[in-house]
Amino acid sequence: MKFATKLLHGTSCFDPVTGAASTPIYQASTFHQADLDRPGAYDYARSGNPTRQALEEAIAVLEGGERGFAFASGMAAISSVFMLFSAGDHVIVAEDVYGGTYRFLTKVLSRMNIDVTFVDTTYVDRVAEAITPRTKGIYLETPSNPTLKVTDIAAVCRLAKKFDLLVIVDNTFLTPYYQRPLELGADIVIHSATKFIGGHSDVVAGLAVTKDNDLGEQLYFIQNGMGAVLGAQDSWLVMRGLKSLKARLDVSTRTAEQIAGWLRHHPAVTKVYYTGLKDHPGHELQSCQASGHGAVLSFDVGSRERAKALFDRVTLPIVAVSLGAVETILSYPAGMSHAAMPKAERETRGITEGLIRLSAGLEDADDLIRDLEQALQGLELYVPQVTHAYEDGKEAFSGV
Ligand SMILES: *Cc1c(COP(=O)(O)O)cnc(C)c1O
Repeated sequence: MKFATKLLHGTSCFDPVTGAASTPIYQASTFHQADLDRPGAYDYARSGNPTRQALEEAIAVLEGGERGFAFASGMAAISSVFMLFSAGDHVIVAEDVYGGTYRFLTKVLSRMNIDVTFVDTTYVDRVAEAITPRTKGIYLETPSNPTLKVTDIAAVCRLAKKFDLLVIVDNTFLTPYYQRPLELGADIVIHSATKFIGGHSDVVAGLAVTKDNDLGEQLYFIQNGMGAVLGAQDSWLVMRGLKSLKARLDVSTRTAEQIAGWLRHHPAVTKVYYTGLKDHPGHELQSCQASGHGAVLSFDVGSRERAKALFDRVTLPIVAVSLGAVETILSYPAGMSHAAMPKAERETRGITEGLIRLSAGLEDADDLIRDLEQALQGLELYVPQVTHAYEDGKEAFSGV
């Protein structure tokens, strides 16, 4: 089955009991045990709920793994997966990792005596140099946020196998439609299903898939033990969004390509980051390990004042924390996702005060370009009235 068909028929596409075309929302916390000697498939909904299970099976099939798990958020999935490690373990983590993951690792996990080293994983030799006798895992995010740096998943996995390390990949930006890390040798894939998989800015959810059943059993034990499970209603919403994943991404990716190609020639834009552009350093690698470049791009307008002027002038995109939705979303990494990072550190990573991230939605591409055009009009000549910089280390937003 090809991916589009798998989205609808990879697992049972109707309810086996009633034939309902959509999985029923089993709004139940507990299940009657008819025979104490022979417990049924479900006993208590933290341990298993049929609606959540339908989603868990669907994502496992799409990622090509053995076991799927649905969590209350992307961060719930990520923090639960890190519970596979123990005190004294060391994990190598991509330096451009999602801000919430960075915060969890440096402020929470560090207290549990699990050490992490942040490495620019686009250089596999730097990953190799960071391995110590205590290293147990490598955690990747590719392409990274917001400058879309690409890590060679297969090369990192080959290295990891030599040292018996788990490879975990946050696949939120590309989804299994474009990239399937388990097929490239990874052991666990994670998603913030809040983004492309849910796709409609109406649910917060997380997913994880393990390549094999052994790891699946370990993660199931943690999911049930820690209890950060996704509710039945939200599981249903994620499945509803998932069905149109390919159709949405086909349109949004084409729009992102068009916008990126147009922005790079705009006089008010100093830089465009999109792996679909041939001069992006990760273009070749991305074209090999993934089947698409996705719907997220970033561009630099030169200063915070110009970014603010653009945010004030656009009428179609919403300005928000998040990505991967039916509506186009603009966000401001220096003030949102990376606000907690010291300015100097941000700037070395290209996260300047003028950087804007765009996640293309389903609006007409010409309308979006027209709107961005009027917002960018004369921006290269824009002289700020008031200057105000974000304070270092101040977190303006809590999330993305
Ligand atoms: C949003 C996001 C997360 C966190 O997911 P939540 O659902 O917000 O908890 C993790 N990784 C990436 C790449 C994200 O974009």
